[in-house]
Amino acid sequence: MFSQFYTNLNESATLGLTKKVRELKAQGKDVIGLTLGEPDFNTPEHIKEAAKKAMEENFTHYTPVAGIPELRQAIADKLKRENGLNYAKENVIVSTGAKQSLFNVFNTLTNPEDEVIIPTPCWVSYREILQIARAKIIEIECGIEDEFKISPEKLKGVITQNTKLIVFSSPSNPTGSIYSYEELAALVEFFKDYPNLYVVADEIYEHISFGKKHVSIASFPEMYDRSVIINGFSKGFAMTGWRLGYMACANRELVYLCEKAQGQVTSGANSIAQKAGVAALNGDMSSVEAMRVEFERRRDRMFVQLQEIKDMKVILPDGAFYFYPDVSAYYGRKDANANVIANCDDLCMYLIENGVAVIPGSAFGTNKHIRISFAYSQEILEEGIARIKKALEALA
Ligand code: PMP
Ligand code: GLU
Repeated sequence: MFSQFYTNLNESATLGLTKKVRELKAQGKDVIGLTLGEPDFNTPEHIKEAAKKAMEENFTHYTPVAGIPELRQAIADKLKRENGLNYAKENVIVSTGAKQSLFNVFNTLTNPEDEVIIPTPCWVSYREILQIARAKIIEIECGIEDEFKISPEKLKGVITQNTKLIVFSSPSNPTGSIYSYEELAALVEFFKDYPNLYVVADEIYEHISFGKKHVSIASFPEMYDRSVIINGFSKGFAMTGWRLGYMACANRELVYLCEKAQGQVTSGANSIAQKAGVAALNGDMSSVEAMRVEFERRRDRMFVQLQEIKDMKVILPDGAFYFYPDVSAYYGRKDANANVIANCDDLCMYLIENGVAVIPGSAFGTNKHIRISFAYSQEILEEGIARIKKALEALA
């Protein structure tokens, strides 16, 4: 008998559906996948050069578990320069992706049964990693009318003095929403009444925003001591495969626990990737900006196309590379074989059968929506959206 807990744990829906698309394609099926949140761009040249140099110089050994000092310092400098945050390099732990940083933090910050609030829709892995930590998860659903953002009003009546942690991403996966300075200030004011509450702020999409400025909640002096920043290189620098991310927080005890946890599981991040990370943070940012501009162009083009789909409710994302439209108007309708589409899972199955894959909102904790990634070429996006439109409008 293998672990009952892992037997019951959900597979990551984003990775699972992307695997399914790959399998369907291998079988020769004509299916367009708009499932994955992965930039379709290559890692910028100067970052790859730094990795090649590291290899040539035989920088191929174990590194300190918490990361090489040079990278921890580059991260501390970046947090100061871009986010106005004062951390020493000793407040930073480098990991094999933001996902591992989240794993370290959730498992070291909470005890079993600690209450953790996750505003939904939220990224797929928060719930499952928190389940691994045996936390007690409390979800608060936010809708299109709230631009998918949590507010003091929504937290009232749910948050208690026992709530240990609240987790959110801004820019958000899957909605693209960004918390403004004023929205964060209102939350910070509200959190004053909950002095034991910690905040995990996942800022991995900060470089992909379209006009609205990213603000880190840790930059509010009242929150500095009880915020944990999660970030990484996957999205902004197109470095998904390098597996490099980090956490930063003021509390050194928590930093040490994360280091200890990581030392027992992965021994830390890849040495070559870490040298590449230094080049990414200290180097020229023009390729990051060029990718951002291209994402914005695709978003604007796609918004026009999505608005043309009858009965789909869609808002313009401020960041990241996802649309999260409300498709609930289609529930209750039938396909050509008289099968009723009852929810977002049925709808996504129906869309796959019609040659296009997207992620059901259920993976992110809401049922009215689907997530469509625009981290794909314009050509793929145009064809994918045309298929979605045709399939949805064929439902009767
Ligand atoms: N947080 C969010 C919101 C994400 O979308 C992702 C996507 N992978 C991650 C964390 C993890 O990123 P990484 O590739 O650095 O593990
Ligand atoms: N974060 C990306 C996504 O949501 C990559 C896959 C994953 O790790 O979930 O699609």
